[in-house]
Amino acid sequence: MLDALRTEASTCTRCRLSQTRTQVVFGNGHPNADLMLVGEAPGFHEDQQGMPFVGQAGKLLDKLLAGIGLTRADVYVANTLKCRPPGNRDPMPEEKHECEPWLFRQIELIRPKVIATLGNHATKQLTGKETGITRIHGEPQQVTYGSMQVTIFPLYHPAAALYTPAMLKVLEEDFAKLPALLDQEIEPVPSLADLIAEPAPEPAAVQLGLF
Ligand code: URA
Repeated sequence: MLDALRTEASTCTRCRLSQTRTQVVFGNGHPNADLMLVGEAPGFHEDQQGMPFVGQAGKLLDKLLAGIGLTRADVYVANTLKCRPPGNRDPMPEEKHECEPWLFRQIELIRPKVIATLGNHATKQLTGKETGITRIHGEPQQVTYGSMQVTIFPLYHPAAALYTPAMLKVLEEDFAKLPALLDQEIEPVPSLADLIAEPAPEPAAVQLGLF
């Protein structure tokens, strides 16, 4: 299923980034991972190799994962944008809007328990809120996408932490909270059928035995 979606995305022309990319960087990793990590957009090396986080930020991500006993094969890594913005500029709102369905369809198929959002762009897009990463990092957010309950865990972007030791320390501390989040049981969201099957409460007058 995920492979079919990858094939479909590989020829995407929904935004102008399709004209400048080398290739679509769909994402990779375990197709049913409990942990999904979502970055911003492919950079030069990702655009060349067709895989997310293969540059310096990716090497740091590998180290952080190893620190909690995980490898890339255990998790799924993707980006909010599947194509490289020229010169690694910030994603534009219409590019994010056009690309969003690919990300949500990936999430639907993978059904992760936890999505670690790396940096501001992924965090705002997946929480649906404007609260920035400096305020919200390391604080799990419960969100519901359709019938799915997911924990969003905002983290500093590894590329930002690469050259700022204080930020790297915070990123490492936040990362260390991931195993406990992954162990947490998530209450299933009741399906519509369950809600309909539940008897409606009787009017107060009936309960009081007035009828
Ligand atoms: N930065 C990102 O956000 N994503 C990548 O894939 C690489 C660098």
